[in-house]
This record gives sequence, C-alpha cells and structure tokens, in this order.
Amino acid sequence: MKSLDTLEFDARFARLGNAFSAVVTPSATEHPQMVICSAEALALLDLPPSTADDKRLLQLASGEWHWPHIEPRAMVYSGHQFGGYTPRLGDGRGLLLGEVRNNAGEHWDVHLKGAGLTPFSRSGDGRAVLRSSIREFLASEYLYTLGIPTSRALCVTDSQTQVWREQRETAATLLRLAPSHIRFGHFEYFYYNQKYTELEQLQTHVLNDLYPECLTADQPLAAMLSAVVKRTAETIALWQAYGFCHGVMNTDNMSILGLTFDFGPYAFLDDFKQAHICNHSDNHGRYAFNQQVAVGYWNLTALAETMTRHLPVERLQDILDDYADIQQQAYLQAMRARLGLIDKRASDAALIEKLLLQLNNSAADYTLFFRRLGELPVAEALTSMADEFINRAAFDDWSSEFIARTANDARTQEQRRTQMHAVNPLYMLRNYLIQIAIEAAEDGDYAPLHQLHQVLSTPFIEQSGCAEYAQRPPQWGKHLSISCSS
Ligand code: AMP
Ligand code: MG
Repeated sequence: MKSLDTLEFDARFARLGNAFSAVVTPSATEHPQMVICSAEALALLDLPPSTADDKRLLQLASGEWHWPHIEPRAMVYSGHQFGGYTPRLGDGRGLLLGEVRNNAGEHWDVHLKGAGLTPFSRSGDGRAVLRSSIREFLASEYLYTLGIPTSRALCVTDSQTQVWREQRETAATLLRLAPSHIRFGHFEYFYYNQKYTELEQLQTHVLNDLYPECLTADQPLAAMLSAVVKRTAETIALWQAYGFCHGVMNTDNMSILGLTFDFGPYAFLDDFKQAHICNHSDNHGRYAFNQQVAVGYWNLTALAETMTRHLPVERLQDILDDYADIQQQAYLQAMRARLGLIDKRASDAALIEKLLLQLNNSAADYTLFFRRLGELPVAEALTSMADEFINRAAFDDWSSEFIARTANDARTQEQRRTQMHAVNPLYMLRNYLIQIAIEAAEDGDYAPLHQLHQVLSTPFIEQSGCAEYAQRPPQWGKHLSISCSS
C-alpha cells in the first residue's frame, strides 16, 4: 500500500506540452470537508481505505495542495454540442492533477473537477456544486458495479465557498479517475484548427498509450478507430440494456476509451419510457433514451472526420459501418442475460422489441421487471406481473411466446434465479434516492448518502433492512426536474 505522498507518476499526457493543455494552479475552496470517498477507487491507486480520513486527501481534493513536482493542467478541446460545432471548449473547471502509475502498471489520471478558473472557463466560474458532484460520484461508482465502462469517482468535498446557480450554493469538488481524459473533442480541436502536427501527435499518443495493440496493424490509425467504434458501441449497448440515459452526448463528453464520461443530468429509467428525455435543456430530444445508439454513431462520424487527412473516406466509412452490428450484438447479449435466455435465436431481437413496447405502454418499472422475472419460475413470474400491464392480452401473448422460447431451459429454478439475479440489480440508482441523499447532504448530513452508496455497492444482493431502496419511486420522485446547471 502507498500514501498520497509516495505515488508514482508517468506524465504521458502532460509530456505532450502546452499545445494540449495549460498549466493552472488550483484555487482552493474555503473550509473544505470530505463528503464521501470510495474505498474501491482508492484501491485503484494502491491507497488504503484509511486514506479517506487523511488530511492530505482533503487538501488535494479541495485544491489546497497538489503534488509539488507536477504542474496541474487544463486540457484544451472542442466539440459538437447538440449538433453544432463549438470551436473551443476545454477544461473550464477541471484540472489534471497527476497521472499515476499503480503497482499493477495501470495508468490513472487524477482529475479535479471544480478546481477554479482556467483559460477555458468562458463565462463559467470554474466551480462545481454539491448536488452535481454527488450525482457524478454515485453514477460512476454504480455504473462500475453494473459492469458498464465508466470514469471513476474517488471523493467529493464540499466547502463554504459560495457560488451562484439558480440560487446560492456551495462550491464542491469531485476527484475523478480515468485511464485517460481524452475526448472525441480533442481530435476535433486540432483538426478544425488545422493544427495537423499536433493532431498527429495526439494520434500517436492515443495509439501508443491507449491502444498499443493497434500498433502492429497495417493501418494503426484505422485499427484504433475500429477499437473506439467497438468500445463505444458496447458501452452504449449496456446503457440501453440497463436503462441509463446520459443526457448530454456532445462529442466533448465522449471518451476516446468508450467510457461513460462527464455526467450531467443523467437518469436511470424508473418507468420504462423509450423516448425519455432526462436533460431539461434538450428541447428536441436529441439525447432521448431511444436516440442514444444513433447519436453514438453520429459522434463516431465526427471523430472519423478528423482522420480524413490520414485515411481514405471509404475506409473510414467501412469502419463506421461495423457500429450498428457490434452495438446490436452486444445489446442482445446483455438482454438475453437479463431475460435469463441461455442460448441465441435469430428471433430474439423481435421478442425483446415486443416486450419493450409492452413495458413502455404500461410504464412498467424497468429494473424490477427483470428482477421479478427471475424470482419465480417463468410462468409464475409472468402471471404475477400480468395485471400491471394495460394491454393484458398483448402481454399474455408475449408471455406465451416467451415461455415457449424458454422451453429448452433445463436449469432448476434455483439456478435460474441465481444467474438472473447476478445480472439484474434489485437496487437501482434512482433519481429520487439521489435527491434524498443530496438534500440531506446540503443540510450537512452525509449519512443518507453514505448509506445509499453502501447499498448500491452490492446492488444484486438483497440486503436486510434495505427494502425501501428497492421500491418504485413515490409520485413526487417520478418527475424530478434535474437542473442541467452544475
Ligand atoms: P459540460 O456540459 O459539463 O460537459 O460542460 C461543457 C463545457 O463547459 C466544458 O468545457 C466545461 O469545462 C465547461 N463548464 C461547465 N461548467 C463550468 C463552470 N461552472 N465554470 C467553467 N466552465 C464550465
Ligand atoms: Mg463536458
């Protein structure tokens, strides 16, 4: 085990120099306090759980102290926001504090969100508020638990520094970990500014340090794009399978590693609603739940465009053409597991579509449907839920089809339940649960947040005394307006 003072670093991004980032000193928040810390994320840096109480961590996470031999850096990038190109974005409030190499040889960027003004702050104040920092903390750690690729959250701090959003709030910070913070928007920035030397430097860095397995391909850059297409398709497939709506899939929020990245007004679906829009600023539903797969493709196209000087357009198009199939196969695989199907059939896509239509029309709870499907033998489970469907005849029709589909399943119910429960969480990161934890934290009580984080850290296992976490949301909790200010 190590301490924050004995970590090893490898400045592979910082080494690219000042064309890629600006050196910025964090500006400390006043009277900071630790809100929550993830022991699992600490372990990624070989830090013991006791680091959560280490004063050094609070100093690092509140901008008061940083590693003396490392210059914190704000990255420059651009991106397509809601379809329109913004020529210069960059880390407006985030700083790369250091790039850690852990004992296993893994690389972890340590990034502080809410660290104060940078050259890329535009009209922002460089700060983050407590509610959005808590939301990102919970989502990244929960997605990880579900097995969905994501950046990680190490800790959240709050402070007495005041910031203004719709009302007065306090400045919080989030310490985030990811193997890289490079976004599609990094490539777009250098491409659209015709900084081709830097574009090639960026390509080389990403290839060498993030996709070394592509170096031996005939066309390493093409192999790299293929790998990004694959990872992005697979991550979005899992979002769809688990009901995660990102909310702001701008190209500057798309990780080059295919991680779920930059959490804003995201939501996990409670009631299954295909066209759910979780971002209140998304007036046209560009990033609605059922648009995410198509938007992933659109975003990859924007990334591919930055490679048009290096690869023929036909080659790029061929690579992009693989997206839909990879996505669909990954989605079907996850959905078969969720439905407890033990083999593949060509008719599965249609069977799943038909179910989703019923779930949608009846506003069924997306998480609990799968959990309950595994709880009892198939026919009994379906009967127990049938009354909740508005078009009972259509659901019964689907049930018969599903029962016939599972006729070759020779498992005992006990085996079936165990396998299904291992992929179908009982406890979901529901917006209303987050809201309860946030409101208590804003009043200085972190216990509900800690409790929620604790329950959600093993979401597949029923925990005694936690029944309330497995409920559908109360009426007030169904239509929470999640502000996109953060
Ligand atoms: P987001 O929608 O959170 O991905 O942010 C889009 C861009 O705005 C990024 O470049 C952020 O760094 C920047 N940004 C968001 N909030 C602030 C803020 N309070 N101060 C400075 N920059 C910000
Ligand atoms: Mg962003």
